[in-house]
Amino acid sequence: MPYAPFDLTGKVALVTGGNSGIGLGMAEALAQAGAAVCIWGTNPEKNAAAEARLKQSGSKVLALRCDVSDEAAVARSFAETLQYFGRVDACFANAGIGGGAPFVDMTSEQWRRVLAVNLDGVFFTFRAAARHMIERGGGGRLVGTSSVSAIHGAPRNEAYASSKGAMLAMVRGLAVELARYGITANTIIPGWIETPMTERTFSNERFVEAVLKRVPERRWGAGADFGGLAIYLASDASAYHTGDDFVIDGGYTRF
Ligand code: NAP
Repeated sequence: MPYAPFDLTGKVALVTGGNSGIGLGMAEALAQAGAAVCIWGTNPEKNAAAEARLKQSGSKVLALRCDVSDEAAVARSFAETLQYFGRVDACFANAGIGGGAPFVDMTSEQWRRVLAVNLDGVFFTFRAAARHMIERGGGGRLVGTSSVSAIHGAPRNEAYASSKGAMLAMVRGLAVELARYGITANTIIPGWIETPMTERTFSNERFVEAVLKRVPERRWGAGADFGGLAIYLASDASAYHTGDDFVIDGGYTRF
């Protein structure tokens, strides 16, 4: 018999950026574990393809078009999510963009765009989810997707790294502030994962040569590598686990 707390039947999970890469890997696992799943993304074609794929699990699934950097759009989409599913038990703020440039050449527009999606977007999403979870009672789960760039020096990626480092601080505060409501808050810290975001980087032979040998598992991660953790964090099994950062990087950080 499967371990009962990992059964997500009756739970609703929201995954922003759930139409691709890490978010899709988490959404797929959550749906297969029995959760109803709502995904948000800005690209209608990617949303439709992911929705069709997730529905193969037999779970209730909805994809919404939402730009998380748009405060009003997040409020609208969260209301629509609630209208469709009735509740949100676990909220994965995973949507994010890259935006690297040599620091001295970075424009303030580039800087603000990365922060708008990767940091403001997480704030808008978690605020909507936390308000709902507190009002509904019964607890909840907030999970942010950060990055190893929040730990290591990330050259030509300071805006991105700043957004991901700030997320760690935000989530630690939330873990303390929201514990009284039974709401946990944690982050996932992926290493080098093969997704559309890293396509260009991984096509650079010099990069692959220099970095892959520093990954003890000797392969890039995949979206599916985040499924088990997503199930754990959405499940009753993680009720006492809050304020933590989960590094999934094939050992890169430890090497
Ligand atoms: P990805 O496949 O490109 O996925 C990014 C997701 O975010 C897509 O679903 C995208 O959907 C969505 N998104 C982008 N901008 C959005 C916006 N303004 N509003 C709503 N959704 C938006 O890349 P990924 O690697 O899976 O990235 C997922 C998360 O992991 C990101 O936060 C990223 O920073 C983080 N991460 C990735 C790696 C890695 O090596 N790949 C490492 C560390 C951390 P649309 O295109 O439809 O908007």
